Amino acid sequence: CGIVGYVGDRDAGDVLVKGLKRLEYRGYDSAGVAILNGQMSIQKGKGKVVNLEKLIKVNGVKGNIGIGHTRWATHGEPNDVNSHPHLSESGKVAVVHNGIIENYGSLKKKLSDNGRTFKSQTDTEIIAQLIEEIYSKSKDISFEQAIRLTLKQIVGTYGLAIVNIEEPGKIYIARKGSPLLLGIGDNEMFIASDASPIVEYTNKVVYLDDGEMAVVDRSSYEVKTIEDVSLTKEVHELAISL
Ligand code: GLU
Repeated sequence: CGIVGYVGDRDAGDVLVKGLKRLEYRGYDSAGVAILNGQMSIQKGKGKVVNLEKLIKVNGVKGNIGIGHTRWATHGEPNDVNSHPHLSESGKVAVVHNGIIENYGSLKKKLSDNGRTFKSQTDTEIIAQLIEEIYSKSKDISFEQAIRLTLKQIVGTYGLAIVNIEEPGKIYIARKGSPLLLGIGDNEMFIASDASPIVEYTNKVVYLDDGEMAVVDRSSYEVKTIEDVSLTKEVHELAISL
């Protein structure tokens, strides 16, 4: 339902929770974050963003890069396990997803037949698992290519944000039928499914269009098509009235 992402100098937990609160008006049943800090820390559960906020505090989760999600369940009941982010089997790849993967059943079967075990009932988990399956099966492909190959196999709609413990400064995003934009700060970047979490930090934004993905780090971003054609995107200036 709602997506946020952050990379920069700030406390990622703070920025993500604040952003998720701004997206609460859309409605949701669960909330969660993945924060990278040398390891992958997942905090998530059914219920309100304030509960997530407490969880992050109590567990002392710190880090400067992360992704967050408010879920409106479509596949799998609202519960802690089905909350986003979802991890690949190794725990190295975390994914948040808005939308519906229509062919998740057949992909899940194929991955299960290959020996992968699934934790959730969601359509989303197959994305993390398929990326890892493709990435780990070939020595010659980059993580980005593995994402692209995954996107070619999935049918449905998505706004996606993905982090990989092996690339601890980067967030990958992709869009098809579910909005995503990038907020460009001063040595920091923001990601969100609508502008409301971003406006307090920067008025410079890039809107992703359907069929596009981006690799984002704190000081740069590169937008491409899913076919790997680099794009020069217009940077919009949001009119901010404070
Ligand atoms: N289909 C996904 C799920 O049920 C994402 C739902 C959403 O957009 O929040 O977990």
